[in-house]
Amino acid sequence: MEHIQHTLPWSSAGMERRVSVFRFGSGSRKAYIQAALHADELPGMRVAAELKQRLLELERQGRLAGVIELVPVANPIGLGQVFQATHQGRFDLASGHNFNRDFPALAALIAPQLEGRLGDDARHNIGLVRRLMREAISAMPPAASALEGLRRILLLQACDADVVLDLHCDFESVVLLYALPQLWPALKPLAARLDAGAVLLAEDSGGSSFDEACALPWLRLAEQFGHARIPLACVATTVELRGMADTDRPQVQHSAEAILGFLADQGLLSGDWPAAPSTCCDATPFSGAQYACAPHPGVVSFLQPLGKRVAAGDPLFEVIDPISDQHSVVHATTAGVLYARERLRYAQPGLWLAKVAGAHPLRHGRLLTD
Ligand SMILES: [Zn+2]
Repeated sequence: MEHIQHTLPWSSAGMERRVSVFRFGSGSRKAYIQAALHADELPGMRVAAELKQRLLELERQGRLAGVIELVPVANPIGLGQVFQATHQGRFDLASGHNFNRDFPALAALIAPQLEGRLGDDARHNIGLVRRLMREAISAMPPAASALEGLRRILLLQACDADVVLDLHCDFESVVLLYALPQLWPALKPLAARLDAGAVLLAEDSGGSSFDEACALPWLRLAEQFGHARIPLACVATTVELRGMADTDRPQVQHSAEAILGFLADQGLLSGDWPAAPSTCCDATPFSGAQYACAPHPGVVSFLQPLGKRVAAGDPLFEVIDPISDQHSVVHATTAGVLYARERLRYAQPGLWLAKVAGAHPLRHGRLLTD
């Protein structure tokens, strides 16, 4: 194992923040796994701790068939943002920006340099695109903030990987994957191994999140250079490893083994691994997800458990204003799985309280909220 450290720019005098990458194995294929980009989403960090020990063991046994890079703490900025005992790891306090948005769009950056240099040889094309991606990030002008520097470090480390797993969680949630529709066949064994309760697919959900910044350039370049053979060379997904409190050992050990099994599916680990389960939840369009909000402030009681399959019209939660006695019940507007619930039990304007994965598009435009 090699320990690589990247120093973030713009630390205050007397402070230094670093991103640690643990690199295992060798070879031409690579998986990149990062956790806690939203720094208060700790199940992924706990799974990464488990993976680190397992990968050390597998490395000793000579069972690594490629490179696996692990970043257990993808966001040292957010990890330190604790205000009066409350952790705020989703937004950069200095700028207000979401840590998992606005990653650089690599296809547009490198497309001019690809003119006339791509052909029928997919391996050559992949190698050239990856090299130009790395060069383009390295050639950017100095980062204007610690956040910008962090985004570049993470993308530079991940952009030449064949597999990218970005480990997050929701407030209270089933295991859930976000990905490009084109990548669903490749990711189905991972969803099955993780016992995912929902999979949400979108080609471009509008926020330039990390997994899309890794996967989408290949699709865009294949569209732009239609004459050349450009495969979708990066299988990237955001994995929501249940809810924020879900760090119990049996669950995280199961998730770690599921990820290792998937790496074996991808040819990155050798030896015998359990086969992926043959059954898996259905994937649904991200645009089909209902984000259910309350119609007024008040205290919230949920009326359905997580993971429940609901019908359109089923009650999801009730909201009660104890001063005015205003009482509302919010219903599902689509049939599907109740895959996530808010952690706070007080309704606030415009903030979702429950999410249902339906099969038919309900939302348009930017699908990601902040
Ligand atoms: Zn997250």
